[in-house]
Amino acid sequence: MKLPFEIDLNNKVAVVTGGAGVLCAELAAALAKNGAKIAILDLNLAAAEAAAQQMRDLGATAIGVACNVLQRESLDAAAARVLAELGSCDLLLNGAGGNHPKGTTGQEYLDVDRLDDPELTSFFDLDPAGVEFVFNLNFLGTLLPTQVFARQMLGRSGCSIINISSMSAFCPLTKIPAYSAAKAAVSNFTQWLAVHFSKAGIRVNALAPGFFLTQQNHKLLIDEHSGEFTARAQKIIQQTPMGRFGESHELVGTLLWLASEEASGFVNGTVIAIDGGFSAYSGV
Ligand code: NAD
Repeated sequence: MKLPFEIDLNNKVAVVTGGAGVLCAELAAALAKNGAKIAILDLNLAAAEAAAQQMRDLGATAIGVACNVLQRESLDAAAARVLAELGSCDLLLNGAGGNHPKGTTGQEYLDVDRLDDPELTSFFDLDPAGVEFVFNLNFLGTLLPTQVFARQMLGRSGCSIINISSMSAFCPLTKIPAYSAAKAAVSNFTQWLAVHFSKAGIRVNALAPGFFLTQQNHKLLIDEHSGEFTARAQKIIQQTPMGRFGESHELVGTLLWLASEEASGFVNGTVIAIDGGFSAYSGV
């Protein structure tokens, strides 16, 4: 990966939750290339270790840590390891997040003639457990790591937290009410935290990626039989003025800008859309 520009993160420790995932592994690698010591926290230890190994192979300091962002004990254990092996956390990237099929409706619009269709999940069939899973993963999965790692930031300067929101936070996407509302909560919480931590010297901002083809949304966007874009993927591209999906490296410049105290030291409480113009386009 070629960096868009370089910042100085030497002697900084960056913790990346969900850091074994498609987007966050690339973001973590960009932080490593700028000198940060990296802790990849992920449910999937093998993938976290593999991502950390790739960084070590390039000369960076990186560790992979098994961690569930929804369990306080797991986070406390991860934080103790980060402190012992890398030092106090300077930068927290809250990347763990995602959707669940049980928080997703089968159709964009309620079809009153098909309410009894066993093949379709209507609004009335949404499973509270699925909705809860999505809220917990995105919202609590941002709040709990922040409780644990912001403690390590207190009394030190130049620390920052970067959350991952989404397009669906600005204007909800059809079919995914739980994810949209949970990411709206992440955006709202970003602003709340930015205010709350402002006297403690910790900046809090968020990236709001548009549509990037990853594991999380693969089934929604690529037809498993033909390998072609689904109707939904085609609709997204039509609604994206730049006419394509984003590529993960296109999040890197905004991340580095927000991570750099010199570049964005007065930027606090913002949620930045990286979406090819999707959120600016009314559709007409
Ligand atoms: P991904 O599914 O590739 O990665 C998510 C990672 O989080 C995985 O490695 C997974 O193991 C880990 N994870 C899941 N639950 C966890 C838990 N409880 N504790 C610790 N780790 C856990 O997803 P991605 O597409 O790279 O998305 C990264 C972030 O960006 C997510 O917050 C997602 O909601 C957001 N996002 C993605 C897109 C997109 O188009 N892909 C768009 C907007 C926002």
